Amino acid sequence: MKYIGAHVSASGGVENAPLNAMEIGANAFALFTKNQRQWVSAPLTAKSIELFKENCRKGGFDPRYILPHDSYLINLGNFDEEAVQKSRAAFIDEMQRCEQLGLTMLNFHPGSHLNKVSIEKCLDDIAANINLALSKTTGVTAVIENTAGQGSNVGNRFEEIRYIIDRIDDKSRVGVCLDTCHTYSAGYDILHNYDGVFDEFEKVIGFEYLRGIHLNDTKKPLASRVDRHESVGMGLLDMEFFKRFMTDKRFDDMPIILETPDESRWAEEISLLRSFE
Ligand SMILES: [Zn+2]
Ligand SMILES: [Zn+2]
Repeated sequence: MKYIGAHVSASGGVENAPLNAMEIGANAFALFTKNQRQWVSAPLTAKSIELFKENCRKGGFDPRYILPHDSYLINLGNFDEEAVQKSRAAFIDEMQRCEQLGLTMLNFHPGSHLNKVSIEKCLDDIAANINLALSKTTGVTAVIENTAGQGSNVGNRFEEIRYIIDRIDDKSRVGVCLDTCHTYSAGYDILHNYDGVFDEFEKVIGFEYLRGIHLNDTKKPLASRVDRHESVGMGLLDMEFFKRFMTDKRFDDMPIILETPDESRWAEEISLLRSFE
């Protein structure tokens, strides 16, 4: 079975996210558990946590299909000691918020080398910071998202994600989220070489690590390394890709999240995708 939703707003409190997901007919969702553009947010209140759990129950959302996303400010691969301290602390705080909400995953972009250090050094630092965060929390899996490789972002090659996973002490608490827009922009042709790309994913990373999908169409061409999402079927990926994806059992039983730009189309996009099942 497919679990489909979108990255819904948590404005006014995390407890509103499951309500927003219910409105679009979702059975999965993503959210920010704090303001994604600020380093520090007020702690979650007991009331907010209780309401979040209650609303998830009401909407039938199991934590296995809820994929919280961390703040865009965090760079676990920052070479600068002072700057990375801030990122480390914020990442641990994000993980602890997930724990408080009874959530089991935290999705994040691996980081950026900022053209100051090698890709390997950056990946080593990211792995060390993930290990640190895992040692300070329990029950939350660190879910690494593949990137388009825009700017100095690492994690656009499957090998780079594997490199990080290889350095994580507790392999049961590390996973991967594949963003279809990023995958295509990074140079993996999921439209014309669907089988080839996912065979490569299996060979390099392994489907056992796959914890979620960001299902986005893309505005930018193959290997452009530019991250611009588009609504389902309105970009370069073509309906053929989405039809194939929806009947592929390897993507069952995990959150499939739309991060497409037009929120008013989410309900429609979800029903369209369901019609392909
Ligand atoms: Zn994404
Ligand atoms: Zn993106």
